[in-house]
Amino acid sequence: MPHTDLYCIIVFMINKKNYIVLDLEWNQSSEKAEENAEIPFEILEIGAVKLNDRKEIVDTFMSYVKPQVYLKMHHMTQKVIHLKMEELKDADTFPIVWERFLKWCGEDYIFCTWGTLDLTELQYNIRYHKLPPLSDGPIAYLDVQKLFSLEKEDGKSRRALEYAVDFMKLEKDDRFHRADSDAYYTAEILSKLSKAVESRVSFDVFHLPKDRKSELLVQFDTYSKYISRKFPDKAAALSDPDASSLRCYICKRNTKKKIGWFTLNNKHYLGLGVCAEHGPMHGKLRIKKAEDGSIYVVKTIRRATKEDENGLKTREKKARIQASKLAKMFRNHKRSETKRS
Ligand SMILES: [Zn+2]
Repeated sequence: MPHTDLYCIIVFMINKKNYIVLDLEWNQSSEKAEENAEIPFEILEIGAVKLNDRKEIVDTFMSYVKPQVYLKMHHMTQKVIHLKMEELKDADTFPIVWERFLKWCGEDYIFCTWGTLDLTELQYNIRYHKLPPLSDGPIAYLDVQKLFSLEKEDGKSRRALEYAVDFMKLEKDDRFHRADSDAYYTAEILSKLSKAVESRVSFDVFHLPKDRKSELLVQFDTYSKYISRKFPDKAAALSDPDASSLRCYICKRNTKKKIGWFTLNNKHYLGLGVCAEHGPMHGKLRIKKAEDGSIYVVKTIRRATKEDENGLKTREKKARIQASKLAKMFRNHKRSETKRS
């Protein structure tokens, strides 16, 4: 069965009116024992730049936030962001700033951040203050740090913002780690990257898909990405027909399994299937833990090269040897236990 009943985004069609380039500064508990798990990082500053669809700056937003949870500045925060508690005492609280910010964002936009942290920490703060959630499922956004790497470097490296500013030879005023200037630098970098690289959209999974129907299957240019709903445990995830399928990323039809899912570390599973029309497909399935301890699956499928096929064969053999060694150890252990009792 092709995966057609699932929510499928063709990423090239993500065409928003505005880009909201967002940067947050936050504080944390000075004492680990006093950390509030509901809000590990409390937002102190929101900075943002609005770009239109031609990536021209049309507006900026900057506001301090009066802290309500951690009233002492963590020494690392102090060092990095150069903000003092006194500067924040007259600021509005998070719910007020947030309302103002959302109004400023407008209707049709995509969030853009440097790295993967901001949207997650933002949603912790939103939930802590019992405000309406940003979304009830994963949020598509542009990780400009990733896009920079994809277009200018190897696609894997993750650089500091200042490195990218220097790399792109942008003018800088040496103010980093302040929300307004970091948002501005990030916006400047984004505006100089190609439109094509923006198809490599990221997904924040603070809220995972709530049921099978809202699971994500995203079609990229050379691969597909699937994000499952939550499962009680790994066994349930691995026996789910959608989560454990190995479908061709182009036509979404089931492939003929050549190497079934195997693992060398119990977290990443690899597999190889062949689509009758599009050839060999390389699958990678990652087992991830949600905040509440349940399990979800992130799976990517792309075309397999000859090298991939050979590599997978070697690794699968290794996994089989590893598994049989473990089974033998387990049997010996059982036997010695039986003898002792
Ligand atoms: Zn196919």
